[in-house]
Amino acid sequence: MSDTPSRRIQVDLSGQTAMVTGASRGIGKAIALTLGKAGAKVACIARNEEKLKETAEEITAAGGTAAIYPCDVTDSAAVEKLFEAVTEQWEKIDIIVNNAGITRDTLIPRMSDEEWDDVITTNLRSVFLFTRAGIQAMMRKRYGRIINISSVSGIMGNPGQANYSASKAGIIGLTRTVSREIASRKVTVNAICPGFIATEMTDALGPVVQDEVKKRVPAKRLGESEEIADAVLYLASESGAYITGQILTIDGGLTA
Ligand code: NAP
Repeated sequence: MSDTPSRRIQVDLSGQTAMVTGASRGIGKAIALTLGKAGAKVACIARNEEKLKETAEEITAAGGTAAIYPCDVTDSAAVEKLFEAVTEQWEKIDIIVNNAGITRDTLIPRMSDEEWDDVITTNLRSVFLFTRAGIQAMMRKRYGRIINISSVSGIMGNPGQANYSASKAGIIGLTRTVSREIASRKVTVNAICPGFIATEMTDALGPVVQDEVKKRVPAKRLGESEEIADAVLYLASESGAYITGQILTIDGGLTA
């Protein structure tokens, strides 16, 4: 049994529409399920159509509404089309969660141009593309929530992750700037910096490194995807209306 508390945030997002990138697995899937259970219609976005279907089916099985939009988040034209399609289907977009991300870890002398570009493009350019595509409609209707998933690596740095850390630090700068540009239009923009969360991304570290991580984290465990999803839910809620330009770290005390 999990030693984390049972989920307890109660938020009603009925009537709202959310887009979640990287919804095919891991943290993004947990976010999509959480927003769906809170009543939002959820557009589930990633490249793997089969996995997206699983996410959407779980949302509908729990009584929610979801649709899948297979899309490469680095493709500018595809992102523009995606916004047109979601707006056509559900008329408006209230919440955008920029969660899709990858790692291509290696020390800087060995890092290829491709490893640098892939990570920056997937993790940072995508956030720019989704923000630009969604923001004008949000400003016009004087409502919106943009929540970007950064990382503690963007704050602390992490050996072997120059590309990833740079992309995640870039998200923090983008979040702060855009929040200032649009705060008067009642659109909030925030970032969450997870520490080590148990997903396929951290599975790839292997058991030895995971044990080392657990020793380093004051809470002595990895986080759960649902613990990130709960924070997204709060920031997306009416209670988050006066929170903008903030960077919320959720890391079991790693950066304390
Ligand atoms: P994950 O299990 O590897 O999932 C990554 C997601 O991103 C998948 O749904 C993947 O879907 C999607 N994605 C990747 N490239 C994409 C592309 N080009 N177009 C569309 N979707 C794409 O990772 P995770 O652990 O859940 O991480 C989610 C986010 O949290 C990432 O931004 C990550 O950097 C951040 N984060 C994670 C941790 C952690 O400890 N796990 C810590 C800090 C921050 P497809 O492959 O189906 O496209």
